[in-house]
Amino acid sequence: MKAAEFAYEVPKSIQDAFALKQSYGEHAQFLAGGQSLIPAMNMRLNMTECLIDLGRIPALKEIQLQDRQLQIGAMVTHEQIANSALVKEYAPLLIQASRYLAHTAIRNRGTFGGSIALADPAAEWPAACLLLEAQINILTQSGFQRVVAKDFFQGLYTTSLGSNDLLESILIPVQAKEEKSVVIELARRQGDYALAGIMARGSIVSSKLHNLGLVFFGISDRPIRLVNLEAQIMSVFSGQFNEALQKIIQSSLDQIDIRSDLYTTEKAKRHLCAVLVKRVLAQFI
Ligand SMILES: Cc1cc2nc3c(=O)[nH]c(=O)nc-3n(C[C@H](O)[C@H](O)[C@H](O)COP(=O)(O)OP(=O)(O)OC[C@H]3O[C@@H](n4cnc5c(N)ncnc54)[C@H](O)[C@@H]3O)c2cc1C
Repeated sequence: MKAAEFAYEVPKSIQDAFALKQSYGEHAQFLAGGQSLIPAMNMRLNMTECLIDLGRIPALKEIQLQDRQLQIGAMVTHEQIANSALVKEYAPLLIQASRYLAHTAIRNRGTFGGSIALADPAAEWPAACLLLEAQINILTQSGFQRVVAKDFFQGLYTTSLGSNDLLESILIPVQAKEEKSVVIELARRQGDYALAGIMARGSIVSSKLHNLGLVFFGISDRPIRLVNLEAQIMSVFSGQFNEALQKIIQSSLDQIDIRSDLYTTEKAKRHLCAVLVKRVLAQFI
């Protein structure tokens, strides 16, 4: 199928892109890598009248280190992140996550900002942003706004972005040198969206686990961080997986809203989550 007719604008600056969106309003949409938007238009699930292509704005394609934070422009592609020396040095979890993300053709065009704006619950970047306590820089009608990841992701394909807002960049705090990060994902085939996945960070100091962070993705309507489970695990973890730990994990998982998808039941996902936590902890022994 082909998309319905639409107008096409190619602004050369962030200000021009934003101004165009304000004038077209709900009749226009920003085009990033087009990996989700274009198929939806081709299937006529999305009938936007105008695309505002962000692909010719150099300022949106940069990765920079500023004040102990990585600033990743909205139009930085998945492949650019996977090959970035700055990201490897300062946010290694993103490199680990990038290995699971889609296939080459999609990685070459799909963007960090597009993935964050779309907020697919099984996508890697929203989960990574939640775990790394990223902040999202947004240009709105009332000026510049910075939103923390936990407030940005609000549900299935739903974020705090207003309909005319432009997501400009994402700030990722630099990971501490002593911190270990782990990404494990279960998918039907390499590069497919996750059936269930987990991202974790933490450090071992004097045989104790510190600053543990755990985020699940692909299991609900958005990525989920389990702060209570993190605290409970840190209080009992002694380098071994035992029955007490198993009970803590199970009772914590019993309380979260896990949702089935096309391929995996809620019950199977719940089981996979327990397996994933166990595998993460094995990496901290
Ligand atoms: C077959 C297939 C497999 C995939 N597998 C995975 C996977 O395993 N993991 C994964 O994470 N992703 C996966 N993806 C998704 C893909 O990697 C992209 O992340 C996703 O398509 C969105 O990024 P994009 O740059 O293509 O955005 P687009 O499709 O261009 O845009 C998506 C939406 O975000 C809005 N938008 C984009 N940029 C901005 C901005 N700066 N400000 C405001 N709004 C904006 C657009 O208007 C649109 O509504 C897959 C996609 C396909 C087609």
